[in-house]
This record gives sequence, C-alpha cells and structure tokens, in this order.
Amino acid sequence: MAEKPDHLATRLSHAARDQALTHGGVNPVLQRASTVLVASADDLYAPDAWTYGRHGTTTHKALKEGLSELENAPCCAVVSSGLLACTLPFTAFAEPGDHVLVSDNVYGPTRRFCDRFLRRWGCEVEYFNPTIGGGIETRIRANTRLIFLESPGSLTFEIADVPAIAAVCRRMGVISVIDNTWSAGVFLKPIDLGVDVSVQSTSKYVSGSADTLGGALFTRDDRLAAKLRDAASDLGLSVSPDDAYLILRGLRTLPLRLERHSSSGLKVARWLQTRAEVAKLLYPALETDVYHDLWKRDFKGAAGLFGCCLRPDLVGQTSQFLDELKLFGLGFSWGGFESLVIHCDPQLKRTAAGSTRLEGPLLRFSIGLEDPDDLIADLDQAFDRLTRR
Ligand SMILES: *Cc1c(COP(=O)(O)O)cnc(C)c1O
Repeated sequence: MAEKPDHLATRLSHAARDQALTHGGVNPVLQRASTVLVASADDLYAPDAWTYGRHGTTTHKALKEGLSELENAPCCAVVSSGLLACTLPFTAFAEPGDHVLVSDNVYGPTRRFCDRFLRRWGCEVEYFNPTIGGGIETRIRANTRLIFLESPGSLTFEIADVPAIAAVCRRMGVISVIDNTWSAGVFLKPIDLGVDVSVQSTSKYVSGSADTLGGALFTRDDRLAAKLRDAASDLGLSVSPDDAYLILRGLRTLPLRLERHSSSGLKVARWLQTRAEVAKLLYPALETDVYHDLWKRDFKGAAGLFGCCLRPDLVGQTSQFLDELKLFGLGFSWGGFESLVIHCDPQLKRTAAGSTRLEGPLLRFSIGLEDPDDLIADLDQAFDRLTRR
C-alpha cells in the first residue's frame, strides 16, 4: 500500500476500511460482545489476548483507527464521555501528594472533578491564568506532576501559548495534557506542538449529530499510553459498540462539516459585531480579538463556537433575548448540526489572578449547519423585539 494521502478528509474517508473490520462493507461491522471465545485453553491467559468485551470489539478497533488520523498521534483509548477523557489523565498519572496545574478557563465539570475528586484523592490543585505562557515555569514545583490546558477555553475563548507551555513541561519533566475539543483535532495538532496527551469530547464536532456521548485520548508516548489504558481498564471503562459505530460515522464527514461551521460562525460573528446591543465578541478567528495572532500562529481554522458579550445595561434582558430566538436551541452542548445558545454567567468560575475579558453578560453561540442568513435573521428579529420592549 502506498503512503497515506496528505489530506485529512481523504484519510478519514478511507481509514478503518480493512476487510477484517468491514467484512466487505464500507463501514465496520457492529459487533456487540461481552463474551469472547478463544480457540484453545492456552489462549485464555495468553498475553495480549482479547478475552472480554469490556476491552473493546471490532467496532472499537475501527473507531480507534479512524480517530488515529485526527491528531497525528495514535488514539490510545476511547471512553464513554468527553469528561472521562479529561479526567482519566489525572487518575492515570497523579498520585496523592502531587501538585497539578489547571488552566483557569477549563470546562466546568473538569474543574469540579479537580475541586472535589482530585482534592479528596490528596492532590493539590492550582489554577493558572490561561495567558501565562512560558511564565508557567514559575508555578512548577518539585511535586508538580501534570499541567492541564484548554485552548481556547470553551466559554471565554482565551488562546494559550501551547508550544511555550509544552516546552517548559518537557524541560521540567511535567506531563502536559490539553482538552482539544474546540478544534476537534482538525484545526489544532497539540501533539505536534509538543503536548504529551490530547483529549477530546467526541460528543461535539466528531459525532456531529448531538446523539452520542464519547471521549478520546491521544498520545505518541507509549509509556503514557500504557498508563492511560491501564487506568481505563482498572476503572472498568468501556463504550458501547453502538456508540463507537456512530462516532466513527460522524468522523467521516468531520472536515466538511467543520468548514461550514467555520464559515457560518465567522459570518454570524461579524454580523453580531455590527449590532449596537453587542459589546464584544470572544472569537479568536476575528481580527479584532486579542488572541487572533496567537490563534493564527497555531490553528489552521476556527470552529463555529464563540462568545458574545451583550452591552452591560442589557444584563436584565439576556434571558428575554434568548427566549425570543426561534432557530437557536437553548442547550449546553455544541458541535452538532443544530445551532445552540446559552447564557454563561451563572457557571463562570475563575479564581486565578488576571484580567477578565468580559464586558457584559456573556452568551455562547454554537453555530450549526443551518443557512447562516436564516440564523442572522433570527438574531435580528430577537434584537428588534428587545429594543421595542
Ligand atoms: C462537552 C465538553 C467536554 C465533556 O464532554 P462530554 O462528552 O459531554 O462528557 C469536555 N470539554 C469540553 C471543552 C466540552 O465542551
């Protein structure tokens, strides 16, 4: 077989298509199994023998092969949620007495895991300003085990200087982990930038249909991969084959969908920027964003998820505005074909010293695959109703 094609879209169409996985079809067989039969008594305890469904089936193997095209690193584990993909590196690598550094803009449930579980587990958790860059070095102690990043933050959209932080981690022997869900592994390749482990929620763009939950972990480091796999196995984590099948199906069309999310996201964001009711957009793809240059340096494109601060005096009308929208669903997820919006202020939690970039009540838009002009018309009518009250 010749070298792999250069382009991700081609590789994702052709990954995991071996006869052994597909039995002649285009898609992998959907293999449901708890019991696995082995050929002989000796095989029951053979090293690396596949002996039980919790360790995956043909369908999971296909999904991992497909995902391995995404981040220029093997997918070492698939788990049943993105949150589990975020928390597994902590349980795999950190021990009681360790110190972990966590970006102040991480996904709320990741933060809750750190504040509750990890502290009870005996780890010291310290949050740092996402703009810290190479300055992270001053926070590293003898017992610092792991640094967890999310870039951009999925509510406030700060871009971290990922290569600078990863370089410090390598030099000082600290494991670096990033939540790469926003870029879906298409726009940012953290492992190429020196990060040890990249994790994603596949519930978002990868699945793309708002109908499955899943997470994936990627690393090129065999030692770390083995620890992650051991932790997943020790904890009894597994994904249903049906979900694995759906996630792989979403993966095939990911690059195409992201192009549309990206172009529509930019169009809607630019339109919002022209509105008097809007104080500020939080979207690194916009030239006006303070993180634009950093984003442009490291990312190949932008997802369709961004923040939007309304004018501070509209704080009392935020919920009314959302309720006037007809095409935007009110929902916490993102990355599906349908547009969503939430207001974020009740869940914002920041404890690290540093500037906040908010200038009014914060909304978060996930721009779906609808025609962007229809979305703009919907926003337009909702703003109109606001000002007429
Ligand atoms: C949704 C999300 C997660 C968690 O993913 P689930 O699959 O819902 O558990 C993790 N990180 C980010 C940035 C997310 O948006």
